[in-house]
Amino acid sequence: MNAACRAHWVAAAPLRHGPAAGRRHDSSAAALSSKVCRPAQLRQSSHSRYLVRRLGPPGGRAVALDAAFPFDREAKMKKQHTQQLKLRIGIVGFGTFGQFLAQRMVKAGHEVIATNRSPCFEAAEAMGVRFYTDANDFCEEHPEVVLLSTSILSLEKVLGALPVQRLKRSTLFVDVLSVKEFPKRLLLRELPQEVDILCTHPMFGPDSGKGSWAGLNLQFDRVRIGQDEERQRRCDAFLAFYEREGCEMVEMSCEQHDQLAASTQFITHTVGRMLGAMQLAPTPIDTKGFQSLLSLVDNTANDSFELYYGLFMYNQNSTEVLDRLEKAFDEVKARLLRQLHDKVRQQIFYGQSDDTQMLPAANRISASTEDTAQAAAPSAATTADKPGGSNGAGKRGSGTKHAKHAAPVKSAVESA
Ligand code: NAP
Repeated sequence: MNAACRAHWVAAAPLRHGPAAGRRHDSSAAALSSKVCRPAQLRQSSHSRYLVRRLGPPGGRAVALDAAFPFDREAKMKKQHTQQLKLRIGIVGFGTFGQFLAQRMVKAGHEVIATNRSPCFEAAEAMGVRFYTDANDFCEEHPEVVLLSTSILSLEKVLGALPVQRLKRSTLFVDVLSVKEFPKRLLLRELPQEVDILCTHPMFGPDSGKGSWAGLNLQFDRVRIGQDEERQRRCDAFLAFYEREGCEMVEMSCEQHDQLAASTQFITHTVGRMLGAMQLAPTPIDTKGFQSLLSLVDNTANDSFELYYGLFMYNQNSTEVLDRLEKAFDEVKARLLRQLHDKVRQQIFYGQSDDTQMLPAANRISASTEDTAQAAAPSAATTADKPGGSNGAGKRGSGTKHAKHAAPVKSAVESA
């Protein structure tokens, strides 16, 4: 690098010693670019003190060529740090989500290998992942991190079939299951004491995380990480992958995750699936609200039913949430029908204006057809006579008018 180039590079390069140091550096960089050293600014950090020593007496002319050295050192250190963040990650379960993660990991510079029940050579090759059908071969590649991305329902079986003895002793096991207490217990129970365990749940999928991951949540629980520096570093390096993608890092116990996820994620999937079953379709007059319902259906329908079932079966809190959802639906429906009943009863007992046309078609009877009214009369009499008694509906009406409203009540009650 010639002197002119270095001078330019020194002036442009930011310092990465934290924001305050960075700001201080801006002024010193400006000073260097004009090649005049201003001592008051340069004396503020150890790095700057180093520059003062190198650049001669305060107020003297600075030679940018000399100043480049620490930046070279810094670049080297940065490179070394980046190298430390690179991991050999072995993915077990190379389905939709495993492949989704693998793609990003490769892009981030990690070495990724994978194994799966059914062969996925082509998909793996396309994204620069080495694929192994034989789990023995996979383990003998000695990945530093084994990432479990198999279905919730198959985890126990898959883990049981993995020849863990072929891995290095202190391998880090990470799971990405959408439920957390279950894998935590299973991994603690099944894996040898010497392996590390990190439970994670990326709270997004191939649809919601199609573009940037900025602001998307990553829950994690360092369930069992050995105390020595290297094992801590490896765990941090793995988490740094998500952090560098812009995820919100949420450290939380697996138990707490399941409590919260039941009333957030599980409910989202349930409502999405219910609406999906209704086969809703876009119309020319869609509201924003309806469009967001359609996108909820899209976001949830692409996940396998097995995954959804896993959210229910393997989270102890899901049944209660499902019950609450059902109860809430019943309450809302009952409130609607109560309002309808109240209105019709007003008409039955107090003969208020005839606005049956306001009722839903299914509950409406033809007000003009005397025969229909007559046919409904017995049930009307039963309904009206009971509460009315001697001063009730029977006194006021001839039966025909009340019969007109009795049918809607019956129909509404039956449908409730
Ligand atoms: P999934 O249906 O939950 O899992 C599919 C994977 O499990 C495939 O690799 C599949 O292998 C494997 N598998 C299923 N049954 C198996 C069995 N009996 N024996 C061996 N392997 C079996 O779909 P996914 O979306 O890829 O999810 C994978 C994991 O990521 C799940 O634990 C899920 O909870 C978690 N996760 C998913 C999302 C998401 O948005 N999709 C987000 C966060 C976390 P084959 O290819 O051979 O069928």
